[in-house]
Amino acid sequence: MTAAQRWILHADLDAFYASVEQRDHPELRGRPVVVGGQSGRGVVAAASYEARAFGIRSAMPGFRARELCPHAVFLPPNMAHYAAVSAEVHSIFERFTPEIEPLALDEAFLDVTGSLRLFADPLALASALKRAVLEATELRISVGVGPNKLVAKIACTLGKPDGLRIVPPEAVREFLAPLPVRRLPGVGPVLGERLHELGIHTCGELARAEPSVLARVAGNRASGLVALARGEDERPVVPNRIPKSYGEENTFEHDVIDRDRVTAALTAHAEAVARRLRRDDYRGSTITLKAKLARARGTRIARGPGGGREPFYPLVSRSRTLSTPTNDGQRIRDVAVALWDEAALGEPVRLLGVSVSKLEKGSGRQLELFPSARDRLGSTLDAITERFGRGAIGRAVDAPRKITPGRTHKRGDG
Ligand SMILES: [Mg+2]
Repeated sequence: MTAAQRWILHADLDAFYASVEQRDHPELRGRPVVVGGQSGRGVVAAASYEARAFGIRSAMPGFRARELCPHAVFLPPNMAHYAAVSAEVHSIFERFTPEIEPLALDEAFLDVTGSLRLFADPLALASALKRAVLEATELRISVGVGPNKLVAKIACTLGKPDGLRIVPPEAVREFLAPLPVRRLPGVGPVLGERLHELGIHTCGELARAEPSVLARVAGNRASGLVALARGEDERPVVPNRIPKSYGEENTFEHDVIDRDRVTAALTAHAEAVARRLRRDDYRGSTITLKAKLARARGTRIARGPGGGREPFYPLVSRSRTLSTPTNDGQRIRDVAVALWDEAALGEPVRLLGVSVSKLEKGSGRQLELFPSARDRLGSTLDAITERFGRGAIGRAVDAPRKITPGRTHKRGDG
C-alpha cells in the first residue's frame, strides 16, 4: 500500500507587523515603515516593503536601519494587537483544515490533504485561502504548497510578497536543484561555508554528493542533508504543540554591570514570562538566564544574506530546574537573580534574557487543592495589565526604561 499523497501548505503574512500598522494608519501606506529598532541596539522586528527597498531587513540593528533610511517611520511593536490579528487569521485557516501548526504570529503550516476534495485542486484551495484572509483582514499572505513542509516553506518564501506557488511532487527535484544550499533548514553560515569549500553550492549538487565526502563537513547529519536536498521530508504537521519555552529578553542601550539595573531587567522579564505562561495555562520547571557579554571576542560570519563578518559577543547561559513547575513571576525572578549572582561574570553585558522551559499544562498536575495566594495575585496582576498596559504595574522594581522588547516562543524545529 502506498501512502496517500500529502499536501502541505505554508502560509506567511507579508511584512506582518508593518502591514498591520499600514492597514490601521492609512497615512503610513506607501511609506517606509519599520517596527522595532527604536533604541540604538534594538533590532528591527518587521520592515514594510517600502523600507526593504532601502535594504532594511528584520533582525537588523536599529542604528543600521536608520543609516539606510533616516526618513523611515520607526514604530514600537504592539505585540498584543498583532497577536489579536494573528488569532483572526488563524480562525480563517480553520475554515480550511483543523490540521494547523502555528510557527509564529504570522506563519503556519497547514495539512490540507483531507480538505482537497472540496476544491478542484491545491491551487484552487490556496487561492481561496489567500482571498479569505485578504477579505477579512485586508492583509496579504503568501502561500506555498507542496508534498511536505520543506517544499511548502521554500515555495512560500520564493513567492513573496503576495505569493502563491504550488510544487507538485513530480516537480520537487527540479524545483530545489538550482537553489542555494542555505535555503535548507539547518544549513547556517558555517555549514554553508564548509559545503562551498567542497564545491557544493546548490541543492542539486548536495543531492548528488558522495556521502563519505559530505560526512567530513556534516558528520552524522550528512545523510539527512542529502534527503532534504532531494526534497524528502516526512515531518508531520503537528497542531497545537506544547511550546518548548517562553522567554523575554532585551538589548540594553548602554552596557550594564550594575546589579540594580540587572535585577530590574530580570524582574521585568520574569513577570512578563510568568504572565504569558498564565495566559496560556502553562507552568515550567527549568529557568534559564541568558546574558550576552558586552566585549566582543573577535568576529564571526554574519547570519542572513549578504555575508561578511560581524563582531562576536559570547552568550552565557545558566539554568536551574525546580522540583515543581511554576508560573509565578516572583519565583522565576528569584531564580534568575540567583543564577546571575552565581555566574559572577564580573564584566558588563549588552543583553539579558529569562526563559522558562520544561513546560506542562497548568491544570495537568495541580499539586494544590486551591489556587495559592500567589496564583491569585498573579491573575490580579494580569487583569490590571490587560486593562492598563504593561507599564501600569510592577512588583518591587519598575521595568528598565530603555528596553527593547524581544520575546521568544520556541515551538521546536518546525
Ligand atoms: Mg511573515
